[in-house]
Amino acid sequence: MVDQADIGITITDTAANILYCNTAFSRTTGYSKEEAQGRNQSMLSYQTTPTTMYQEMWTNLKLGLSWHGRLLNRHQDGTPYLAELSVTPVQAIDGTVRHYLGMHRDVTAMHQLEQRVLNQKQLIESIIDAAPMAIALLDENGKVVLDNHAYKKLVTDLGVPEPADLLLAALAKSSTPGKCDGVDVRIDRAGGRAPRWFCCTTQLLEMRNEDADSFFDHPRQPSLLLIASDLTALHEEQEKARTSTLKTLLAEEEHTATLHESLSAALYQIEEPINVIASALALMRGRGESTVSAVLESALTGARARIDELRQLLPTQTRGAEAAVGVNFNEVVRDVLDITTPRLLACGITVDWRPEPVLPALLGSPLRLRSAVKTLIDNAIDSISEARDKQRPTRREICIMTAAKHDVITLTLDDSGPGIPPDLRLKVFEPFFSAHGQVGRHLGTGLARAQQIIADHGGGIDILDAPLGGCRIRLELPVELGMP
Ligand code: FAD
Repeated sequence: MVDQADIGITITDTAANILYCNTAFSRTTGYSKEEAQGRNQSMLSYQTTPTTMYQEMWTNLKLGLSWHGRLLNRHQDGTPYLAELSVTPVQAIDGTVRHYLGMHRDVTAMHQLEQRVLNQKQLIESIIDAAPMAIALLDENGKVVLDNHAYKKLVTDLGVPEPADLLLAALAKSSTPGKCDGVDVRIDRAGGRAPRWFCCTTQLLEMRNEDADSFFDHPRQPSLLLIASDLTALHEEQEKARTSTLKTLLAEEEHTATLHESLSAALYQIEEPINVIASALALMRGRGESTVSAVLESALTGARARIDELRQLLPTQTRGAEAAVGVNFNEVVRDVLDITTPRLLACGITVDWRPEPVLPALLGSPLRLRSAVKTLIDNAIDSISEARDKQRPTRREICIMTAAKHDVITLTLDDSGPGIPPDLRLKVFEPFFSAHGQVGRHLGTGLARAQQIIADHGGGIDILDAPLGGCRIRLELPVELGMP
């Protein structure tokens, strides 16, 4: 039986001299039984196996323990092969060891296969690592099991422990859910850092199960390959061009709104004496002073006609002119911050911008929303810069946060200015009310206009106490409803 076993078997004395070898041993080594018997096992050594291997082997054997390992052997014709060897001390009935049992097989082919797999793994890993795009492989529980250098860099760049979670959440919220072949996503970052843009592709892979019990039925484990190419530089270029167009558009919008408000204010003020005249006329008519009242009546009718004509000439605002589109509210705030930066710098105000990393898109008019946010930020800057004496803030800060919960986007804008007293918090939304008490720049229609814009988008604005000591504006916008 030993002779016919399909593994090389030798029995040696304690100096490793071969006393017996089987047919498989001769087949593997090339030595016939006659040539092998009587010679030492060291005849098989290729003389390159480190001495420490033999020392370890012999130390084990001397302690009566078996040894298992791989050695580089030579065939009888001199060619090398890798032998997987197992040597066991054989105890006699009296407990002494007088023989060793050696079993060995040629594992060169298996070794070559192992090396090929390792080389391929190394090659794939270096290609993946050198790739400029971030690559991550996620298992069925969403755990990243393989990633590359570009992906690891995202951990610091995006300030999150697992960037894949953020990218996949952004993909899920993107305007084209389900389509994951080159979808652009935007990731907003805290601390005033510019947003990052990625072109994401996902692919479902079915990996082979490595467990022994799946040897025959080959169940597959679903995995997700995520590839994200950084498009930030390209988007920044496009953003620069867009911001400069935006500046012009917003300036035009502001100019038109100011003109509209100035004329409205003038008309409102003209209407006051006219209403007084109308009451006087009614009084005179009651007293029967018909001659004067006829003249006054015609003057009054003429004046009202002129006012109506003037009202027709009011410049048209963009309200309703812009079609509703999917809007990223973080982008709206970011745009306004970009445009307002020179003013913020000039006033020495620092901005703490804490966007929700991924916001759902809302339906609305980006231009009007920008105009509303700009009014709120301009008001915060005004209140910090124009505060006098005791009200002058020691800190000059604005903190802006966005959040999304239950399909409602919230913007919280805190300033370190003097704040708005509770009794004025409703009044400030009335047209022509100004808490600044100055004539000129402040017409007192900004908040009323901003409230109108937010209301047109199905949302609302509140004024609260800010933790910074000043005013907190909380703005809520529903995602579903959007602009009619
Ligand atoms: P050596 O000078 O013979 O020995 C190298 C080192 O091994 C020495 O420094 C010493 O520390 C230790 N050593 C050697 N012999 C003994 C001993 N009798 N007692 C204590 N320590 C010792 N070797 C192979 O290369 N290929 C094989 O397939 C192989 N099969 C073996 C099968 C069996 C059953 C046994 C018992 C040994 C086998 N050996 C095999 C080991 C072999 O006997 C030699 O030890 C080894 O080949 C090194 O030989 P060497 O002439 O290069 O160096």
